[in-house]
Amino acid sequence: MSWHADHDFAVTISGGSVAGLCNAIVLRKLGATVTVHERLPGQMIARGAGIVVQNELIRLLQENGAGPLPFTTCRGRRYLDPDGGDGVPQDMPQEFTSWEAIHAALRAAVPDECYRPGSEVVSVSQTGSKVWVTLRDESTVESDLFIAADGSGSPIRRKMLPEIEARYAGYVAWRGTVAESSVPSDLLPFFDDLFTFSEARSGGHMLAYFIPGSDGAVAAGSRRLNWVWYVHVRPADLADVLTDKNGVRHRSSLPRGTAPERTAARLRERAHREIHPKMAALVSATPDPFLQSILDVTVPKTLFGRILLTGDAAFVVRPHTAGGTAKAAYEASTLARALKSARANVDVALQSTERQQLEYGNALYDYGLALGNRWSRDRTTD
Ligand SMILES: Cc1cc2nc3c(=O)[nH]c(=O)nc-3n(C[C@H](O)[C@H](O)[C@H](O)COP(=O)(O)OP(=O)(O)OC[C@H]3O[C@@H](n4cnc5c(N)ncnc54)[C@H](O)[C@@H]3O)c2cc1C
Repeated sequence: MSWHADHDFAVTISGGSVAGLCNAIVLRKLGATVTVHERLPGQMIARGAGIVVQNELIRLLQENGAGPLPFTTCRGRRYLDPDGGDGVPQDMPQEFTSWEAIHAALRAAVPDECYRPGSEVVSVSQTGSKVWVTLRDESTVESDLFIAADGSGSPIRRKMLPEIEARYAGYVAWRGTVAESSVPSDLLPFFDDLFTFSEARSGGHMLAYFIPGSDGAVAAGSRRLNWVWYVHVRPADLADVLTDKNGVRHRSSLPRGTAPERTAARLRERAHREIHPKMAALVSATPDPFLQSILDVTVPKTLFGRILLTGDAAFVVRPHTAGGTAKAAYEASTLARALKSARANVDVALQSTERQQLEYGNALYDYGLALGNRWSRDRTTD
């Protein structure tokens, strides 16, 4: 039976990634009738790479009978010197997973009849406590609540808060993964069991850790070695860096397999000039590096009647926080708790959710900015 006694409580969600699925899971458990519309058709794979495991996500999975989430572990951290010093490992155990593993665990907990791939939300309107969503196929769906989990470029945020723009932070994240079986033999023991960092000579830093294989396997030999390198790119040069091998200019990321060879070659050369030789060798061993530009988004509100922004659609926090997926899970759990305790008073629950989202989002955003600015400042004093 639904917690909402009067009638079936219908929720429409735009976006079938981490934030959309977290909301779908917790709201279905409350008894709501949930439909997730994901613009992309088919299976969503190869979206990202490594993710540091955070408690909020694990809690959401466990409390809702979802998972298990495959993860790898390391015993500690090591900070390398770009000139070749190997640093001293420090005890600091950590767990890592991957975007694919998180998506698979969440998706498995949402039945197919609630998840519509290849279904794009094109507009939303509302009257009183009802929201009407129009889809690309021109059909219209009525619901009691609409959740915009449509990512950092959220079309719904742009409609609700047209004055809010995603700001380019001045640097990009080059990323890559190498199947463990393809990692050069001298690199394997060097990176195994550690979360390894290297400063770059011109500022920025690179980090590397093992994550589950693309099928979720975590046994030695089946994992992937994942790296992220934060590289300063002048705004004037961004268009060039975001242009793929077919000459198509992307908005904010260069998906896996689309980087032109000349861009990948420049990255490899730069790695040999700027970072620890083992990190540079790892970049060279990566067949298809991909890129995400680092964006900042903050919002003054997340609630517009019965329309709620969540995940990266609300705040985009710097990846140094390793907190984007945890934020998505926190927001979904907060919404479910508020709806449960306010029972039929949905608007009170939504207002309480918005307050908590703004508090959490602003705090995480500021923390990410402080971490990001620390190395930007270091770069200018180099
Ligand atoms: C370099 C980098 C490293 C990161 N590392 C970490 C980390 O270690 N740990 C961590 O927690 N987070 C990390 N993050 C952040 C994390 O990836 C996101 O915060 C998290 O995935 C939440 O995303 P989301 O679901 O809100 O949005 P997204 O994953 O962007 O999903 C939005 C979805 O909405 C769909 N969509 C868009 N428009 C429509 C529409 N009109 N109709 C239907 N569907 C639509 C899109 O196709 C997409 O699937 C990192 C981010 C970056 C850039």
